[in-house]
Amino acid sequence: MKEIIKVTDLSQTFYTKDGELEVLKDINFSLHEGEILTLLGPSGSGKSTILNILTKLLKPSSGEVIINGNIGYMFQKDHLLEWRNIMDNITIGLEIQKNKDLKSIERVERLLKTYGLWEYRNMYPKELSGGMRQRVALIRTLAVNPDVLLLDEPFSALDYQTRLLISDDVYKIIKNENKSAILVTHDISEALCTKVQPLKNVV
Ligand code: ADP
Ligand code: MG
Repeated sequence: MKEIIKVTDLSQTFYTKDGELEVLKDINFSLHEGEILTLLGPSGSGKSTILNILTKLLKPSSGEVIINGNIGYMFQKDHLLEWRNIMDNITIGLEIQKNKDLKSIERVERLLKTYGLWEYRNMYPKELSGGMRQRVALIRTLAVNPDVLLLDEPFSALDYQTRLLISDDVYKIIKNENKSAILVTHDISEALCTKVQPLKNVV
């Protein structure tokens, strides 16, 4: 299987007014096509830092990161824009990339229909439940057709029951769309149905 992401000896130290903070040391992992990999570590262990490095928001102190493909980033909060309806929220990435062509719109319409959002397309985020909002955020990430999805604790803001439902839902959608994904979480139960890579300082 094709290797989509390879991270070798990744280290990150922040220099703050209180001194040096070594957040990551010699982290190694790889992600192959079709895999969902979970990085498991407690709060403050550097999970979001790894995702920021993968998306090139942050340059690592040392180590090598190889990425073969386009990345879609799904954050902890859904960050839906309350003044745009569901359809317009989902197509915002295409607008920013100036890619809102007929083919992309057809793709988005297929995603909305396949994943139960079609009848919600003219509604506004505040009319949807937390679980539905998170599904909209996932479809928004998929709308730009990334090869790999990065998910930063995407279920942590949801109540327990919703979290079980939506996490199952998200894994199925990722598999069904033939995407690869890296999920970071501090919650062992969220990690269990995927391949898990503990970060060094897991408690
Ligand atoms: P996690 O996502 O696992 O909770 P983070 O990657 O957000 O952890 O942060 C890891 C540690 O690095 C935390 O102690 C955080 O305060 C620190 N940190 C993150 N980004 C910066 C930064 N830009 N400058 C200084 N410290 C940072
Ligand atoms: Mg984080």
